[in-house]
Amino acid sequence: MSKRVAIIGAGPAGLTAAYLLGKAGINTVVFEKDAKYVGGISRTENYKEYYFDIGGHRFFSKSKEVEDFWTEILKDDFLERPRSSRIYYNHTFFSYPLVAFEALKKLGITESFLCVLSYLKAKFFPVKNPENVEDWVSNQFGKRLYRIFFKTYTEKVWGISCRAISADWAAQRIKGLSLTSAIKNALIKPKNKNKSAVIKTLIDSFRYPKKGPGMMWETCRDKCLQMGVSIQMNSNVQALHYENEKWKVVLENGNSDNDFDFVLSTAPIKDLIPQINPSLPINVVQAALQLNYRDFLTVVLICKDADSFTDNWIYIHDPSVKVGRIQNFKSWSPFMVPVKDMACYGMEYFCFEGDGLWQMKDEDLIQLAKNEMQQIGLLKEELVTDGYVVRQAKAYPVYDKGYKEKVHLIREGLKKYKGFYLLGRNGMHKYNNQDHSMMTAMLAAKNIIANEELYDVWNVNQDAEYHESGERNLEHEGGRLIPVKND
Ligand SMILES: Cc1cc2nc3c(=O)[nH]c(=O)nc-3n(C[C@H](O)[C@H](O)[C@H](O)COP(=O)(O)OP(=O)(O)OC[C@H]3O[C@@H](n4cnc5c(N)ncnc54)[C@H](O)[C@@H]3O)c2cc1C
Repeated sequence: MSKRVAIIGAGPAGLTAAYLLGKAGINTVVFEKDAKYVGGISRTENYKEYYFDIGGHRFFSKSKEVEDFWTEILKDDFLERPRSSRIYYNHTFFSYPLVAFEALKKLGITESFLCVLSYLKAKFFPVKNPENVEDWVSNQFGKRLYRIFFKTYTEKVWGISCRAISADWAAQRIKGLSLTSAIKNALIKPKNKNKSAVIKTLIDSFRYPKKGPGMMWETCRDKCLQMGVSIQMNSNVQALHYENEKWKVVLENGNSDNDFDFVLSTAPIKDLIPQINPSLPINVVQAALQLNYRDFLTVVLICKDADSFTDNWIYIHDPSVKVGRIQNFKSWSPFMVPVKDMACYGMEYFCFEGDGLWQMKDEDLIQLAKNEMQQIGLLKEELVTDGYVVRQAKAYPVYDKGYKEKVHLIREGLKKYKGFYLLGRNGMHKYNNQDHSMMTAMLAAKNIIANEELYDVWNVNQDAEYHESGERNLEHEGGRLIPVKND
């Protein structure tokens, strides 16, 4: 029986599914709302031949299938890059991952001693059943370390108090890590060269496409087109109609396409679920509408290269500036910058769509970024020759109180529609990296090709592994060295 598949979104999940379905000869149409870029949040934008990511995108996965997929697409266009990053806090730069003696020295004897005392207090008198991030992390590391290396950055990223963020998020990102293992990791480099066994944040090199992650997804798009997949840009899916086990896709521009047996959606749940007809029960639609997101913008500063710093990125914990992280795109790949003696930095600001930062004029944002670079001491304003601003709505699905129950309600509600998959990051409201997003797409494609529900896409865990029972394998969890970092 011939099948027709509609894919909403040409990000990593959508294009992975398109590639695999195209390879299997299945009639596939991808609808992408962006007029120019594929790759979604993993795109690479280009301004006057300067290339930059929406946040730096490391290519690293514990899934061999994902790593093989990337290699199949990009072949020799991958670089193996050394990783270098620091934390800026209290006017001081700390190596990241933390180096124990350096951190102790920079914190000072008194503060270090107080950190140990507060850790012991947390061990003997933990908060019972911690429900929010503050309690969860303080239980794990002590309140003082939480305040120094966790609270300010996390609150910059999410824009809400750590007390309002579900403990789920911390558990997902730092599970399996204790202060003892953190110190051990800070003192001794892991001997095990097997990537799958090394804690994620300790990995000191990663793969990166010569011209950023967009290169991966643009190449993947080209290969999909060669296989006969239709990729329609500037095609914002506005509604879906379901009748007699067939789907019709309606676009914002008034066009539509029908007769699809499957719809794979990587669009944010909040946008698409309320647009399904016949509609889901009102409580399910409301659950979708109540999901929250954090938005993001990068101010790109193009400047004369004064060799100010060579880190790939620096986390800015210091509350005296608004910037959350600084990327040095030339350190990710020298091919990101067209002229040798120029540099290109990305000042990352976490915000909410429509708030003060989001609505600031580009020229004001560029001025703010220049001032903050100078304040931190990384760059003199007069070296900056040009600037550019990129805004990314819904960069992060928020794990606030009750989000899990809402997603569960939506999953249950969707069961009566045949052939419908939620995939990827915002598609599933999961804090997924590219690899997790791709793996959900791989499983959906396998099910469609096999004509059978072999896999449950919701059983892909945060380490891009699939578990039949949904159980997580702690040995592979790894976790993160404090402080926990967002992508
Ligand atoms: C700051 C930051 C840094 C990150 N760093 C890393 C990293 O180092 N390594 C890593 O692996 N991952 C990283 N990630 C995560 C990575 O960006 C995502 O996991 C990945 O892009 C998700 O892929 P996706 O296809 O699920 O969704 P998306 O990338 O969101 O793509 C969805 C696509 O759907 C389109 N779309 C949405 N709605 C519609 C609609 N109604 N109709 C048509 N099209 C629609 C969008 O335009 C988009 O192109 C980072 C993310 C952020 C925010």
